[in-house]
Amino acid sequence: MAKSPTLVWLRRDLRLQDNPALTAAANGGGPVVCLYVLDEEAVYAPGAAQKWFLHHALHALAERLEGYGVSLLFRRGREADCVEEAAREIGAAAVHWNRRYGAAEIETDKSLKARLSAAGIDALSHNGSLLREPWELRTKTGGPYQVFTPFWKALRQAGPSRREGQEPRFDAQYGLGRALAGDLDRLELTPTSPDWASAFSDCWRPSEDGAARALAEFLDGPARSYGEDRNRPDRPGTSRLSPHLAIGTISPLTVWNATIAAMAAGSLGDAQREKFLSELAWREFSYHLLFHNPQLPGEPLRPAFARFPWREDQAAFRAWTRGRTGVPIVDAGMRELWKTGWMHNRVRMIAASFLVKNLLIPWKKGERWFWETLVDADPASNPASWQWVAGCGADAAPYFRIFNPVTQGEKFDPDGAYVRAFVPELAGLSNAHIHAPWTAPEAALKAANITLGAAYPRPIVDPGQSRARALGAYDAMRTAAL
Ligand SMILES: Cc1cc2nc3c(=O)[nH]c(=O)nc-3n(C[C@H](O)[C@H](O)[C@H](O)COP(=O)(O)OP(=O)(O)OC[C@H]3O[C@@H](n4cnc5c(N)ncnc54)[C@H](O)[C@@H]3O)c2cc1C
Repeated sequence: MAKSPTLVWLRRDLRLQDNPALTAAANGGGPVVCLYVLDEEAVYAPGAAQKWFLHHALHALAERLEGYGVSLLFRRGREADCVEEAAREIGAAAVHWNRRYGAAEIETDKSLKARLSAAGIDALSHNGSLLREPWELRTKTGGPYQVFTPFWKALRQAGPSRREGQEPRFDAQYGLGRALAGDLDRLELTPTSPDWASAFSDCWRPSEDGAARALAEFLDGPARSYGEDRNRPDRPGTSRLSPHLAIGTISPLTVWNATIAAMAAGSLGDAQREKFLSELAWREFSYHLLFHNPQLPGEPLRPAFARFPWREDQAAFRAWTRGRTGVPIVDAGMRELWKTGWMHNRVRMIAASFLVKNLLIPWKKGERWFWETLVDADPASNPASWQWVAGCGADAAPYFRIFNPVTQGEKFDPDGAYVRAFVPELAGLSNAHIHAPWTAPEAALKAANITLGAAYPRPIVDPGQSRARALGAYDAMRTAAL
């Protein structure tokens, strides 16, 4: 007797390689059908830039699956309704998915499990997105980790909790016909008028193949000097795997194993490898925090920060989003973000710090802006990193360590190449003034053809004075807590 079909609900795991849900479904021996749901009402509905990445990754995945005779269905609506409907339509005996860790997602998945089981359909979940799931690592006293270094030590010692899987073999076909590319277009994931993502395709290869190539190119080049170059936005010093990890065109386990293999093959030194693996661990730590602190996306992990005297300043927020704060390294970062959908990690920290400390604008507003504009927007890393920068997160830097955007720029973009690439109005300024044009003598500005306050703004806040204001706000919060 022919085996019943199995449905695989794909979420942030858009790949064939090392996809436990897909492999388990294929191993069942019956025909497999895949499903992607766009639920605009979901808490983690993708932001605009990530939608562009998703569109292309889904298109590439549909083509690959089609090569195996497996259809990828696209639906738009509430997640649980769409999954149950699709399962009934194909007569599925089981639905598989890889687990998610945000509170609202866990709730959706739990209640869907109950609905499917009431309909006589098995629901089976797997770990496809983490090296170790949040409940697998515990402190000596049995609680969750709040500090990164001991978390990293525990993860490094324990290693990944499963073996990397290969691409599955599909023994049977469902016969739904060709992949439904037209239906993908109906999800309307790409911008039309205006097409603000036109430069994205020069920066990204949004597919499983693109992720594998990005990993190979990284291990063959920048990985060898990762420890030194990872903080330099003017150099191609990092992997740029984040959008792939965020939507799962590659798994962290594949990245982890390939890094260790590169070391074994002699192409990567111990220190570079450990540094890179520890950055992957920050992603794991963010998920650990999200699972154990379900309030992470919306509330400060340090409760005292609920009383922080944030400011409402729409004009300043707008200047920040447009890259027109008058502080070059911040503006370069915000423009890189707008143009490419990505921003270098060092500059993310500087730009975020400028928003929450120099401008005193709530971190949540910055987090939302990043969510809409990052191709790598991630439900755990984004809020965890914002809380870290704002000083209200787990293991956050002490509040008084406020980034000075000028000295940060001079240190990490010493020749001003990064600023010149994204803020061309300043290109003619010498290295001595590129990170603080307001300190340049009139003659230097004139020679560079710059009128401050015209083509390029004067700083919307004085870095020194706003630093003092931020420290005052922090003191006010602490006094209010007494
Ligand atoms: C305010 C702010 C917001 C951020 N929002 C996101 C986000 O939405 N999505 C996201 O993936 N990262 C986010 N990060 C973390 C980090 O900036 C990016 O992961 C990194 O810049 C991606 O570039 P890469 O792939 O070249 O990194 P690499 O240096 O090559 O690192 C490899 C991988 O490790 C992980 N990683 C590296 N650094 C971090 C970190 N600090 N926190 C968590 N994971 C890390 C990423 O998955 C990354 O792809 C944010 C950081 C800040 C300061």
